[in-house]
Amino acid sequence: MALDRFGRNIHYLRISLTDHCNLRCVYCMSENMTFRPTAEMMQDDELITLMQLFARLGFEKYRLTGGEPTVRQNVVELVQRMSAVEGVKSLSMTTNGVLLNKLAQPLKNAGLERVNISLDTLDRQRFHQITRRDQFDRVWEGILASEDAGLSPIKINTVVVRGINDEDVADLAGLTFEHPWQVRFIEMMPFAGATDLQLSQTVKDSEILAWIEKKYGAIELLDNGHLDGEARVYRIPGAKGKVGLISSVSLPFCSACTRARLTADGKLRLCLLREKEVDLLTPLRQGASVEDLRLLVVNGIWSKPWGHGLADGVVPLNRTMSEIGG
Ligand code: SAM
Repeated sequence: MALDRFGRNIHYLRISLTDHCNLRCVYCMSENMTFRPTAEMMQDDELITLMQLFARLGFEKYRLTGGEPTVRQNVVELVQRMSAVEGVKSLSMTTNGVLLNKLAQPLKNAGLERVNISLDTLDRQRFHQITRRDQFDRVWEGILASEDAGLSPIKINTVVVRGINDEDVADLAGLTFEHPWQVRFIEMMPFAGATDLQLSQTVKDSEILAWIEKKYGAIELLDNGHLDGEARVYRIPGAKGKVGLISSVSLPFCSACTRARLTADGKLRLCLLREKEVDLLTPLRQGASVEDLRLLVVNGIWSKPWGHGLADGVVPLNRTMSEIGG
């Protein structure tokens, strides 16, 4: 078991498979983003070695992310190897969905259980404006392909950016009438790269909720407000699916945090919104023993920060969200 000094049992690892992405969302990275060379990234065998180490420490829940995880070479074979690591109980992915029309079924066959698909609007032109790519149709096909492949439950992730997709919130929530999906609205967080936009255009969860209720009437809070992962979950009366609110900024859930992150270049990131990291790839490449690596992880987890410092104006600037693995 990997405990931190506050007694939290950390057993959920988000692994970034790459910092590369096939979209350029305006709130995430610049059009001219430069990516790290492949040689600096964890290679497949290195990733499996580190995953085995985490699994032996009691990490049982894994989410693959990026960058865009589906653009990693041989992603299906890699997922197959990862799902076979002893101790892995749950393997899911956060993806923009662009490649899922082809990859959903192979990924499911390889052992992937679920996908969270990012979609900030149902309007094709606005999608192009937000992502700087004309790929709405591909993403929609990808969502449907994931459903057909049995990647369930499907969760849709929407980052709400004032002045850009406010008008889309209610329509996206309305998808839950037809589909048993969880549509989750995420408060935008500040990182390097697009910090000005991220700090000035944030929309708080109370406002998001008000926009949904304005269109559909009062919505029902489920599970007494207990979090499903990081989301507070609601249902619009009569809907098949659910609406989730992820209020990382206005209502942080740090006390319930069970997660750590492994960046594509092999750093153990202890909190999404703090810069502190432990390098695992360099020692691994220098021949560190399994015990040396285990100690690095155990001591790193022990020193995990309590939570983010956004309320005190502390913004992590050493990496963009896409370089950390959202
Ligand atoms: N490419 C994949 C995707 O689009 O889902 C995985 C990586 S992406 C960084 C993961 C999630 O982070 C996406 O839902 C994205 O919209 C969200 N995201 C990016 N920048 C963010 C920010 N500043 N605040 C909150 N969420 C952000």
